[in-house]
Amino acid sequence: MTDTSQPRSSIRGTGVVAGLAYGTARWVRRAETLDPPAAPEGGTQPDEEQVERGKQRFTEAAATVAERLAQRAALATGVSAEVLTANAGLARDRGWAKTVVRELKKGRSVEEATVAATETFAAMFVKAGARQAERVTDLRDICARVVAELRGLPEPGIPAFDEPGVLLADDLAPADTAGLDADMVLGLVIEHGGPTSHTAIIARQLGIPCVVAAGGLTAVPDGARVLVDGGAGTVAVDPDADSASEAAAADRRVREKAATWTGPAALADGHPVDLLANVQDADGAQRAAAGQGAGIGLFRTELAFLDRPAEPTVDEQAEMYARVLGAFPDSKVVTRTLDAGSDKPLAFAGMAEEENPALGVRGIRVDLLDRGLVDRQLDALAEAGRRVGGAQSSPWVMAPMIATVDEAADFAERCRARGLTPGIMVEVPSVAVAVDRFLPHVDFLSIGTNDLTQYVMAADRMSSDLAALTDPWQPAVLRLIRSVAEAAGRAPGGRTVPVGVCGEAAADPHLACVLLGLGVSSLSVADAALPHVGAALTGRTLEQCRELATAALDCDTARDARAAVMARSG
Ligand code: PEP
Ligand code: MG
Repeated sequence: MTDTSQPRSSIRGTGVVAGLAYGTARWVRRAETLDPPAAPEGGTQPDEEQVERGKQRFTEAAATVAERLAQRAALATGVSAEVLTANAGLARDRGWAKTVVRELKKGRSVEEATVAATETFAAMFVKAGARQAERVTDLRDICARVVAELRGLPEPGIPAFDEPGVLLADDLAPADTAGLDADMVLGLVIEHGGPTSHTAIIARQLGIPCVVAAGGLTAVPDGARVLVDGGAGTVAVDPDADSASEAAAADRRVREKAATWTGPAALADGHPVDLLANVQDADGAQRAAAGQGAGIGLFRTELAFLDRPAEPTVDEQAEMYARVLGAFPDSKVVTRTLDAGSDKPLAFAGMAEEENPALGVRGIRVDLLDRGLVDRQLDALAEAGRRVGGAQSSPWVMAPMIATVDEAADFAERCRARGLTPGIMVEVPSVAVAVDRFLPHVDFLSIGTNDLTQYVMAADRMSSDLAALTDPWQPAVLRLIRSVAEAAGRAPGGRTVPVGVCGEAAADPHLACVLLGLGVSSLSVADAALPHVGAALTGRTLEQCRELATAALDCDTARDARAAVMARSG
């Protein structure tokens, strides 16, 4: 039988602003394609009058565009106003105008000269790398507006919304993002663009659920109904209308509540919850400390070193770790040793290319190549703990991708020898299945639901086609989490071993409640998701979380589990 409540297709990108948005997809009016013009043919050179006329037309068109942007800037606030003002400045840039004139002198038409001059600057920005490269979107957008003005065409950009909907774009111009009406634009999906693009920054400011880098978005037709999940980074096309509307409405209520939520986190009955932040460097730790998190549940050290060609020295590492620990001098900070390999290649880890990297040498298996890498990390962390002192004098540290008891015991021994508090991640099903054998060796567990789901469901977490399988609501995954939490609650020697969840599952406010009901004691989520989870917790008692967990466990599919919890969440 065909399951009609499944979305027709699902697209996966990078979620940059958490939240659900369900509505009609509206594509941004694309600017006419402006191919970089070919080199002008030799022959008659333009006379001075022609060049002067071209220059005049360009100057007028650019001034008109700059004026419009400046007017919009005057009506905007915050980052939006800054972006619009900066773009108005770009439209008036003298260097750009001079380059246009140089191109006119080669015999190009004024439109061609505008595009050629823009591409010269775009190439320079791309060469400058990273953040500068992301400004290429701004530049090309201004160029498209000037060319439209030269051609007497309407300004490219956002269509008029007659009802609230979801905006789709190849690469939304920052000038358009800045002018977005958050009442009409429920969600934003961009095929290109990264998490630090202006589009993402402004969407965050406006609180519009947003997904960037959504490969394959072009296939979604204007007018399709879409459900955007800005936390999970997915776009479901033509999902079941009732459950999508219900989910979006429930999410909107949670977001409204989240805007005013402050920590520390607790359930409605006062039961305290350790709600922590996931960070990847010292700056992230400082940001987390300025927010509502009670500490750090996952410091992904490999992400701090992704751009390093060589291994940082122990002293360099100690300095960085001390800054992370120092951000929360009196609270829990959990550092994870390098999870290099698979989707996070580290130049200095010496890993070879593999056919199946997710099943290959990654995480703690780096020991097979060089035990020194992890040992030096542990040395550095112990040193950082000594420098910060107090509550951080025995830092919590965990290993990723542990699969055997031997690995866990070996890791714990190396940690204890340095005065560290050892834990392991539960990501490989072998640990979840036989967790009682691991418990005697460690002081805490942290469930990495991203990888645990990938390995339980035998589905690549990077594959957008398999997004329905890599859904952490899969009842098989929930059952494993329950059995891990139960076993940790009655560890040998009458101990209770704390169990956290630090995968994306914890960032889903409804699933977060289910996880607590399953017996998990701490949740660690990305900064942006923290208030959403914190606010959701205030609406349920521990008993209600347990009921939600029971309802989810009693389902056969991820979809039913989610729906069962939504139906009880009101
Ligand atoms: C996980 O697998 O859930 C996890 C937190 O680790 P990462 O996403 O960094 O692999
Ligand atoms: Mg993982």
